Amino acid sequence: MTHIITSLCVRDGACIEVCPVECIIPGKPADEWPWMYIDPDTCIDCGACIPECPFEAIFPEDEVPGDYSKAGARVSAPRDPNFASRATEEHEVESEKGKGQEHIMLKQTLVLAEGETIDLKADIPPNYDFFKGGPGYGAKS
Ligand code: SF4
Ligand code: SF4
Repeated sequence: MTHIITSLCVRDGACIEVCPVECIIPGKPADEWPWMYIDPDTCIDCGACIPECPFEAIFPEDEVPGDYSKAGARVSAPRDPNFASRATEEHEVESEKGKGQEHIMLKQTLVLAEGETIDLKADIPPNYDFFKGGPGYGAKS
């Protein structure tokens, strides 16, 4: 198993420093990889990152909710095409980029309305893809 960062991530970088095996990597380019990503082959499932996340974006893989609902939660660039077509807000963040801070504009973010649900399980494959077909640890440099 592994831990998974979901589209609730806004890249503030709070989780990166606590990971004992340094397997949380900022996505790059942010338009294509808008979150932080956890290397599933390196994560030791210690759970240290979970309480560090102010946005409750991190879950053990088998606990990622299929019907997440929280009014006011911001979702970044969801893979669901129907959802993405409604996500029009941009959101500025100061993102941790390995050695320092980086100013990032997250496009396609949506603030969940009261009673609105989203399937965060759709966010599991990108965590794997980032390290298999994506930049992976190369995004650090
Ligand atoms: S569960 Fe532990 S090893 Fe895995 S990403 Fe979080 S802090 Fe790192
Ligand atoms: S602490 Fe949460 S919101 Fe911040 S970068 Fe990590 S997963 Fe994203």
